[in-house]
Amino acid sequence: MSIHQVASFAAGQWFAPNSAARAIDCAITGAPFATAGNDTLDVQLMLSYARETGGPALRQMTFHDRARMLKALALHLREHRQALYDLSFHTGATQTDHLIDIDGGIGTMLVYASKGRREMPDSTVYPDGEVEQLSRNGSFLGQHICTPLQGVAIHINAFNFPVWGMLEKLAPTLLAGVPAIVKPATASCYVTELCVRLIIDSGILPEGALQLVSGGLGDMLDHLSCQDAVAFTGSAQTALKLRSNPLILKNSTRFTAEADSLNASILGPDATVGTPEFDLFIKEAAQEITTKAGQKCTAIRRIIVPESATESVIDALSQRLSDTLIGDPRAPNTQMGALVSAAQKRDVHAKAALLATECEQVFDGAGNMELASCLAKGAFVPPMLFHCADPDTATHAHGTEAFGPVSTIMSYRTLDHAITLANKGQGSLVTSLITQDADIAREITLGSAAYNGRIYINNRDSMAEATGHGAPLPHMTHGGPGRAGGGEELGGILAVKHYMQRTAIQGSSDMLAKITGHWVPGAIQQPAPAHPFTRRFGELQIGETLHTAPREVSLEDIEHFAHFTGDTFYAHMDEAAAARNPFFPGRVAHGYLLLSFAAGLFVEPNEGPVLANTGLDSLRFMKPVVPGDSIKVALTVKQKTKRNDEYGEVRWHVRLTNQDDEAVAEYELLTMVAY
Ligand code: NDP
Repeated sequence: MSIHQVASFAAGQWFAPNSAARAIDCAITGAPFATAGNDTLDVQLMLSYARETGGPALRQMTFHDRARMLKALALHLREHRQALYDLSFHTGATQTDHLIDIDGGIGTMLVYASKGRREMPDSTVYPDGEVEQLSRNGSFLGQHICTPLQGVAIHINAFNFPVWGMLEKLAPTLLAGVPAIVKPATASCYVTELCVRLIIDSGILPEGALQLVSGGLGDMLDHLSCQDAVAFTGSAQTALKLRSNPLILKNSTRFTAEADSLNASILGPDATVGTPEFDLFIKEAAQEITTKAGQKCTAIRRIIVPESATESVIDALSQRLSDTLIGDPRAPNTQMGALVSAAQKRDVHAKAALLATECEQVFDGAGNMELASCLAKGAFVPPMLFHCADPDTATHAHGTEAFGPVSTIMSYRTLDHAITLANKGQGSLVTSLITQDADIAREITLGSAAYNGRIYINNRDSMAEATGHGAPLPHMTHGGPGRAGGGEELGGILAVKHYMQRTAIQGSSDMLAKITGHWVPGAIQQPAPAHPFTRRFGELQIGETLHTAPREVSLEDIEHFAHFTGDTFYAHMDEAAAARNPFFPGRVAHGYLLLSFAAGLFVEPNEGPVLANTGLDSLRFMKPVVPGDSIKVALTVKQKTKRNDEYGEVRWHVRLTNQDDEAVAEYELLTMVAY
């Protein structure tokens, strides 16, 4: 078989490996498979190409443009995923593993494409949070905004997820408007290279938005500035080395790390043998040991169980693991493939030997290796289960990660003890808890949350739909304190913000409105040239306002509304009782009556461009309305978000005032308006 030449993509050109390239073996056969690396890459040119070509092109696009680009990219990759599957077998991964890496990566990109359009504005500025009133009369306000970093993101990825590892970092980076240089781990970089080729060949990304370094990164990290960001996944040792780079420290270059951690799974004391929770616990633990042959940053390394359940857990888990078929990942009946390389195999055996110095091995899956036995040079390792009899004094059980199908069972006496043991990991990506008891869940969560990036609780009520201990979801934070690297990835729009600068903007409402493109209370309200409900999405201007005529609210209106709706609450119906209520002077109008009257005042009844009322946000009733008061409405276009070529969402600021111009209610109304 010819050796795969894994190229790099630098400053718009592909560079084949040169004499400095590293050899990569096939995980299944151990035979030479690929070669990667080129020490003549001009890293400074790559950085400036990203900063000067990719960055400006991305920053010209709005968040929605970039979100649509991500969607197109994800769909393109999905169309070509078979090629990625085929190649990825050589990393030792099974078809089920591919679904996590390849489909999971594409799915993550799709979630960012959707969130970008739903949760970010169709603009180049992201207003972060609400406007803050900084002065008594509201003439001086504050607003946080996020704008893209003007540098480049360097993504250094681990070998275990060559596709997901790239896409989960790339999606939020591109959505933020920042170009990326991706450096995959050499052991599996050929899969990443194919994925990058598919992306580049699609022509969907602007020039300079993505570059790839296969093999060594050279001295790239010595040339970073305050506008660049590094996101690293891999060993704690490499993370420490890279984040200690003097230039990175001097320039305060953002550096986030996601490192190996010793994640725990706790069996609740209520989840005894015979309960659905006990079976679920065993199933999840076995899955975490065997999926990706245990090469998952989130895999369960420590299985923490009640003393009374220890023997049962050892038996049930050993039984389940002994059914696992290990072998050539291309064979359809294989359930667990190989580690990525012979080096990883040596490393796992060495770490398992360390565990054996303080733990007893209670399961050895060597008997399941029949299918793999004809592949003696492959990086196959059987599942191994240890029992740690003295977890209070053990060190390796809590501190040495064998990055393979290896896990250690340990017992706890009380919930406090379980928490102490879980926290001995000194910072984890995830701890899971299998229990049906919400009090136990609360106690363990509050005791362990500070040591974890994620706490996953599962039981009979959620197990049919639960996503699994080991699955980082794009919606939720992925990362963890301490040993887990101290970084955060994913978590929806949070991850996008990691590639943007948050700036506090202070000034008048007109200044803030102009900068963010959102109308701000107090900013100029232009009179609408025609009723705004007769104007199409494209015609409506930010700040355009309709001021309605007043309408008096009578006692008959209140009583009519009360009987018509059935809301005869005493504050509307009983003068004496209402007067005893500290909030009301006597009988008052229903808040919902005011909303209904407001709609009656501002709505234009004829068929027109307003298609639907889709919601109402931030409703506040500020002053009671009593019989005889008059209310009027100011309806202002606050924000416009195009949804598609046919319609867009208009967010209106609605303010109801009384005859003395005092605000009685305020809210934001959402409508869909034809384009
Ligand atoms: P490393 O920390 O060695 O490598 C991670 C990434 O860093 C790779 O892309 C690697 O590239 C790169 N790298 C290493 N040294 C440098 C450097 N000096 N400059 C720039 N980039 C560098 O981890 P491994 O992949 O070798 O795995 C080792 C251990 O890490 C595993 O056994 C496991 O314990 C842990 N791990 C944790 C993961 C997690 O998700 N938390 C995932 C994978 C591993 P290259 O491959 O070219 O050396």
